[in-house]
Amino acid sequence: MPIRIHQSDRLCVQDFFPDPHFTKPAADSIGPVIVRRAEHTLSRSHIAAPALKVLYRLKAANYQAFLVGGGVRDVLLGLQPKDFDVATNALPEQVRATFSNCRLIGRRFRLAHVHFGGHIVEVATFRGAGEQGDDAVLVDERGRVLRDNVYGSLEEDAWRRDFTVNALYYSIEDFSIHDYVGGMADLQNRVLRLIGDPWTRYREDPVRMLRAVRFAAKLGFSLETHTAQALRELSGLLTDISPARLYDECLKLFLGGHAAQTFTLLREHGLFAYLFPATEAVIRREGEQGPTARLLLQAMVNSDQRIAEGRSVTPAFLFAALGWGPLREVLDECIQAGMSMAQARVEAIQRAEAAMPVLPPRRFRTPMQEIWQLQPRFEFTTAKRAKALLRHPRFRAAYDFLLLRGHGGEVPEALQTWWTEFQVAADEAREVLLEQRPESLAKAPPSRRRRRRGPRRRPEGDVTS
Ligand code: ATP
Ligand code: MG
Repeated sequence: MPIRIHQSDRLCVQDFFPDPHFTKPAADSIGPVIVRRAEHTLSRSHIAAPALKVLYRLKAANYQAFLVGGGVRDVLLGLQPKDFDVATNALPEQVRATFSNCRLIGRRFRLAHVHFGGHIVEVATFRGAGEQGDDAVLVDERGRVLRDNVYGSLEEDAWRRDFTVNALYYSIEDFSIHDYVGGMADLQNRVLRLIGDPWTRYREDPVRMLRAVRFAAKLGFSLETHTAQALRELSGLLTDISPARLYDECLKLFLGGHAAQTFTLLREHGLFAYLFPATEAVIRREGEQGPTARLLLQAMVNSDQRIAEGRSVTPAFLFAALGWGPLREVLDECIQAGMSMAQARVEAIQRAEAAMPVLPPRRFRTPMQEIWQLQPRFEFTTAKRAKALLRHPRFRAAYDFLLLRGHGGEVPEALQTWWTEFQVAADEAREVLLEQRPESLAKAPPSRRRRRRGPRRRPEGDVTS
C-alpha cells in the first residue's frame, strides 16, 4: 500500500485544535506531516469499540485525542493490533473526571486506565521535555529516567516516544495521521529507528533495547544503523533494569508469537548474554549446533506455533528451557562428583536459578523446577517408578520437555519413542513395553546405591515423588 505524504501539509497543530492546555511548539519546530484520511488505510472500523469511545468522549469534552503507538502502526501494516493506546492533552485527573470507569496508575509514568468490561484503554497525557531538577522528572547519574511526569504538547510527546513508527498519531478530529518524526517513511521502508540520539535514548530507558529487538522481530523490520550500533555498545545497561520489569519484558519477548526470531536477534545483538549469561556461556562452549542452542530455538519455534494455533503457553516451560543448559552441566558435574541424584538435582537447581538474573514468580517457578526435577526420571527408572511418573501432575509438561531435549540431541530417539508409546498404551501393552525398556531407562538411578547405606531422606526443596 503506497503511502502518500504531503510535505506541504505542515500546519500548526494549535490552529487545528484550539485548546487552553496546548503548548505552542518551539520556534524551530518543523511541524507535522499530515497524512489525510483518503491517503492512508486506517479506518474507524479497525479501531476496537472501547478505544473509539474513549477518543470520542475526550473530543466531546474539548480535549485533543489521538490514537498512537502499536494500534496505528499495526493497522497501517495490515496487522491485528494487540491493544490501542490513546494520547491526549487532558491531564490524568481530567481524564479521570471524564470517565466514571477510570483509574490512575503508575508512579514513573502516570497513566489513566479506562475500563470497559474486560478491556482497558490506556490514556496517556502528552509528555514534555522536562528539565533535570524538576520535581516531576528524576534522572539518575547514568542518564536513566526514573520518573517522568512533565506534561507537554503533542509535538513534544512525539519526540519522547521510542521509535518513529510508534509515534504516529491518528486524529479523531479529522481522521488524519500526524507524523512529526518521519514514521510514515520508515513504516514504508520497514525500518525501525529510535527517535533522537540512540545512545541517549537507550540510557534514558534501557528497556528500549529489548523493545527494539522485539519490534524488529515482530514486524520483520531492519534496525536502522545507529539504532543497531548503539544497541551493541550499550547492551550492558540491561543489568540496570529492575527484575520485575525485566520479567515482564521477557514474557513479551518470548511469548509474543515471534520468539524464534527474537531469540536469534537478541543473540546477534549481544543482548541475550545479559539476560541469561550462564545460558549464553554454555551455548558458546557447545557451539551454535550444540544441544542448548538447538533446544532453545526449538522451544521458541514450538511456542510461536502454539500461539499461532491459539493454544496456551506457560512461562514455566519457557524459563525451564532458558535455564536448562547451565542446569544440565551442574547436574552432570554433581553426579560425577558422586552425589546422589536427589542431592545433585537440588544443587543444580539452586545454582541454575542463582545464575539467572531474571526468574519467574513463584507460581511459575515451582512448575519450572518440577519440569527440571522430573527429567532424570525419564532416563533412570524402575517399572514401578515409570508408572508413578505418568501420574505426576507435571508429567505432560516434563514429557514435552524431554522431547525438546531430544531435539537438542540429548535424549536417544528410542527413549523418546518409548515414553510416547508408554503413556497412551493400555494396561497389557504397558506391561509389554516395560519388559522392552530401552537400556538407559532400565538403569537404576545413581541415588539407589547410596540410599542403601542409610535411612532414606528427602532433600530440602525436593517437591517431586
Ligand atoms: P505493542 O502494544 O504491540 O507491544 P506498542 O508500540 O503499542 O506495541 P506499548 O508498550 O503498548 O507498545 O506502548 C505504547 C506506545 O508508548 C509505544 O508505541 C510508544 O510510542 C510509547 N512507549 C512505550 N514504551 C516506551 C518507552 N520505553 N520509551 C518511549 N516510548 C515508549
Ligand atoms: Mg500498545
